[in-house]
Amino acid sequence: MKSSAVAVAGATLYGCSADDAAINPVRLGSTELSRVNNSYEMGTAPISCSGWTQHISDIVDYPTLERDLSADVVVVGAGLAGSSLALHLAEAGVKVAVLEARQPGWGASGRNAGHVLPTLKDVKAIRSFPDGGKRFLALFREHHAMPFDLSAKYGFDCDAEQTGYLNACGSESTFQDYKNSSRFWQEDQGQKVDLLDSVDMQRMTGSSYYPYGVLYRSGGRVNPYLFTNGMITAAVRKGAQVYGNSEAMTLGKLGERWKLSSAKGSVTADRVVFCTNAYPTGIVPQVTDNFYPLTAYALSTKPLSPAALEVINPGKATLAQVPIDLNPFIIDGNNRIILSSIPSVFSPEDAGLHFRNHLAWIHRTWPQAKDFDIELESYWTGRVALRDKEFPGVFELGSGVYGLMHFNAWGNIMAPLLGMLLADGLMKDQMDQLPFPLERPQRISNPNKQDLIIRKLIIPAARLGQKIGYF
Ligand SMILES: Cc1cc2nc3c(=O)[nH]c(=O)nc-3n(C[C@H](O)[C@H](O)[C@H](O)COP(=O)(O)OP(=O)(O)OC[C@H]3O[C@@H](n4cnc5c(N)ncnc54)[C@H](O)[C@@H]3O)c2cc1C
Repeated sequence: MKSSAVAVAGATLYGCSADDAAINPVRLGSTELSRVNNSYEMGTAPISCSGWTQHISDIVDYPTLERDLSADVVVVGAGLAGSSLALHLAEAGVKVAVLEARQPGWGASGRNAGHVLPTLKDVKAIRSFPDGGKRFLALFREHHAMPFDLSAKYGFDCDAEQTGYLNACGSESTFQDYKNSSRFWQEDQGQKVDLLDSVDMQRMTGSSYYPYGVLYRSGGRVNPYLFTNGMITAAVRKGAQVYGNSEAMTLGKLGERWKLSSAKGSVTADRVVFCTNAYPTGIVPQVTDNFYPLTAYALSTKPLSPAALEVINPGKATLAQVPIDLNPFIIDGNNRIILSSIPSVFSPEDAGLHFRNHLAWIHRTWPQAKDFDIELESYWTGRVALRDKEFPGVFELGSGVYGLMHFNAWGNIMAPLLGMLLADGLMKDQMDQLPFPLERPQRISNPNKQDLIIRKLIIPAARLGQKIGYF
């Protein structure tokens, strides 16, 4: 998703397993229907609905914690952030245990759109760090392709492909803006950026709809569910102890240490890190009301035919239409189109509606695509955690208790990167020298504000604009 507001698919659900088919809203009574609708609204529909969990054979289910353990650090939540943190701690020889309420990748990390954006949303927020953001920007320069680097290093099989990240511009003035802002990424951050004209764009995208483009060569795509599980598997190989279906329920002091208990076991550790993002349970109230939850959806098509693949985005770059991206687009390693956006408040479960909107955009962008059958395979939702600041929240909740969370729609690079950097601080016991500020969580009085503004106003207006050909 290019921007949280506009960059992140009706009455039938697609792509869920046989078990999930039991909750197809078409067959349900009104009470069940509202439960199912609610799970789409809450981004908690079964992870087996996510297209990222399909076409794969061997995902491990981690065991439930059923004993009392001791560790140096216990990590709560195995998404991209918690998995990276666990991997980098284990790699450094730190004794780490991970408790995940469901299974690794169940949260936003198994539900996202798969875009790897090698830029930051707002460099100004970083420049406000005490050192002017120097250390963090130097680290971002070094690690801005982290999903690809980690996948290569550990051999993750997660469809991590550096196909480039293409901002497709419909007008020259938009192109000038994006060209100007690409200078920072080229000059300060050493990234390879190509400025594309209409001939290049036609060649790369197969479409004449977007006459200009700015291509970040180090971006691309990843299967975020497999990426998360890759990191967790690597962490286990390095000695981490990982437990699934093990919700952390209570946290208390045990002498100088912390005791974190689940229903059937506990971990006593020197330090605890909550990586619960937009899916916190009530265990640490400070992290339940310090962000704006935003419901987003994604969908995948059935694999395209070879003829369709020649026509639709043959260059395979991850595609973001700027300035307003209602159709964040990739073609994955299974030759499926993956699209994502934000549902209006009335339609979080309406796969058919969202698919039709995207199909209309595909047909407009690639008119020859009307000759091909493009069918919906899977539809799912998830929750994004927004903050007032355009930087994730790294929190100190109490002595030895931390939080790493709220990655907006930029988690595929930022969550693994910050997981690695936090692991370094924990391992060296230098939490006062992190390359970003450690904050106290601030309560937000109206957490639903952003969701309502975005889903009631911005998204419907943007869709109308797209329908009438404004962009
Ligand atoms: C539809 C959608 C599209 C997106 N598209 C993109 C994209 O294209 N590119 C990009 O970079 N980012 C994207 N994002 C954002 C990205 O997915 C998130 O920023 C990232 O996954 C956050 O990772 P995380 O580890 O912080 O949280 P999560 O993956 O949400 O993990 C949190 C985990 O904590 C667990 N948990 C909570 N409470 C407890 C407890 N008490 N005990 C144990 N476990 C607990 C949950 O079960 C969950 O598994 C998208 C998000 C969505 C929803």
